[in-house]
Amino acid sequence: MAEQTIFDKIVAKEIPAEILYEDEQVLAFRDINPQAPEHVLVIPKKKLVRFTDLAAAPVADVGHLFAGAAKAAQKLGLAENGYRIVVNCGKHGQQTVDYLHVHILGGRQMRWPPG
Ligand code: AMP
Repeated sequence: MAEQTIFDKIVAKEIPAEILYEDEQVLAFRDINPQAPEHVLVIPKKKLVRFTDLAAAPVADVGHLFAGAAKAAQKLGLAENGYRIVVNCGKHGQQTVDYLHVHILGGRQMRWPPG
């Protein structure tokens, strides 16, 4: 079984988070160390460790995760001006929490390319 992370505890409501959107499949909450005026994380309630795991996941789970991110972004009022979606995967992707999560970053002009 995968090691328990801080996000396992947030999903289980064992520790608090500022939840912005929730449905049966996903949970969206504010990042504790925001890198933009709006910075929200979206996670699947059914745990996956990293993006790579989506290769073996039901396609509907992928859809729920991304639809959840789009809904959370809409709720944040980011839909009109746009925003950035980021998934860090593994060591080279600089993933620090081993629970799949989608970053929503918005509220300012993003730059390209990322580092
Ligand atoms: P990553 O580097 O892609 O694994 O991103 C992990 C993110 O989780 C970072 O942006 C952290 O600021 C964020 N984070 C860590 N602990 C918490 C927490 N308790 N509540 C909300 N966000 C967190």
